[in-house]
Amino acid sequence: MSQQSQSVQQDAPAVPATGAEIGPEICPQCYSDLVQPMDACAQQDGSVLLTLRCPECHHRTTAAYSWEAARKFGRTFAAAKAQLRATHADLAKENFRDELDCFVLALASDLIGPDDFAPYRYAA
Ligand SMILES: [Zn+2]
Repeated sequence: MSQQSQSVQQDAPAVPATGAEIGPEICPQCYSDLVQPMDACAQQDGSVLLTLRCPECHHRTTAAYSWEAARKFGRTFAAAKAQLRATHADLAKENFRDELDCFVLALASDLIGPDDFAPYRYAA
């Protein structure tokens, strides 16, 4: 994974002081692993120019990465997106079950009547 320094806007060095390289999936500013791709452009030399954004500290950077590093980042990002969608689906189901339980309880307690389903009319 090679990262060449073509940073357009950078407040902090892309490589930590230890000299260890970090991938595009890690924010060089706050070390968050939630970095999102904004743009990607293949270069003549085989590298990929990635524009990245950190949703936590709002750091933006544009840097050239090797094709392998960009592909690995794309796979990591896609896997995280799939995990987020699965979590969203689970939460939506759980919320729906909770609403259904409340509705059944309200029906059993005779708290819901025909007026609750009447269209709302604005007072003139
Ligand atoms: Zn950050």
